[in-house]
Amino acid sequence: MTERVYNFSAGPSMLPLDVIEDAAKNLANYNGCGQSVMEMSHRSKEFQKIIDDAESCLRRIMNIPDNYKVLFLQGGGTLQFAMVPMNLMTKSGKADYIVTGTWAKKAAAEAKKFGDAKVIATSEESKFTYIPRVTKDDIRPDADYVYIATNNTIYGTHFCEDAVPDTGDIPLVADMSSCILSEEIDVSKYGLIFAGAQKNVAPAGVTIVIVREDLLGNAPENIPTYLDYKIHADNGSMYNTPPCFAIYIAGEVFKKIEAEGGIGKMNAQDVAKAEKLYNYIDESKLYKCPVENKDDRSLMNVVFVTGDADLDKKFVAEAKEEGLVNLAGHRSIGGMRASIYNAMPMEGVDALISFMKKFEAENL
Ligand SMILES: *Cc1c(COP(=O)(O)O)cnc(C)c1O
Repeated sequence: MTERVYNFSAGPSMLPLDVIEDAAKNLANYNGCGQSVMEMSHRSKEFQKIIDDAESCLRRIMNIPDNYKVLFLQGGGTLQFAMVPMNLMTKSGKADYIVTGTWAKKAAAEAKKFGDAKVIATSEESKFTYIPRVTKDDIRPDADYVYIATNNTIYGTHFCEDAVPDTGDIPLVADMSSCILSEEIDVSKYGLIFAGAQKNVAPAGVTIVIVREDLLGNAPENIPTYLDYKIHADNGSMYNTPPCFAIYIAGEVFKKIEAEGGIGKMNAQDVAKAEKLYNYIDESKLYKCPVENKDDRSLMNVVFVTGDADLDKKFVAEAKEEGLVNLAGHRSIGGMRASIYNAMPMEGVDALISFMKKFEAENL
């Protein structure tokens, strides 16, 4: 078997090796119960403990207030693009979207199927290289919610605290698929947060939804049962069979974060990794980060280009030979993207920078 590579994929992406190895040890016989988590009934005592522990640990590490429900759903971030308007765009039928990348754009397009979804700000004209600042005056006072994608996985941008709009009493909805657990946030500022797990949490298959209780129960009666958040809240995420194995791994990742000092500690490591990489890119003559405003740069997805598409391809191919894999930018924009989620160790970033230096020396 070849050694494990440094995987810079945007998702599915690296998981902590100790979590994988521990899961492997328990794979056929979980904690001596005689069966695998992949096999056990979701109604069993063992699985009930797994999901309860996962939820309570997430509540502790994210400091989630009691008036919020935590749901473990399926369908990825993409299904949330529809579930959010179906459940929340139900009073005035209006919702305001800040479009800072492909995912937010898709979410806005989906919401238009259900009502008056308005793009109140976008950075599309500059290829999504910055985060527009929105004030209360930009928001329609009767909007049912305001929507953002906190971290833009494809373009490598992120809403810093100052850029997160103050929406007053209007619920703020945030897609945190590619940055959940990477920074401490005040959950009470949000009406609803969602995140597909396969970027910074667990294998694909589970989507975390954190929703304020008063936003539940307003969905029209004719929507499919599965798409009503209240059904899942009332049934402890077990209205139907949940993605058991992915929830189990998510719980193990939450426990590890807690044991290692919490999200603040993760954030310090993430900042150190990202700063090292951005500093090198800014100093180098070959590479350039298209996101010029440093406050808007993502800690999780570092996007860079050489300015020559063929050289970018050569970079990605040669990096792969060195065990630095999945460095190609998203197929829609090209260039390079190094996704450095929580599970990417500093050694991976160091190995990438050494390779970038060598490549620069050979190709400049
Ligand atoms: C990956 C991603 C999505 C889509 O997630 P799926 O789970 O594949 O549906 C949505 N939003 C953001 C910010 C993402 O990074």
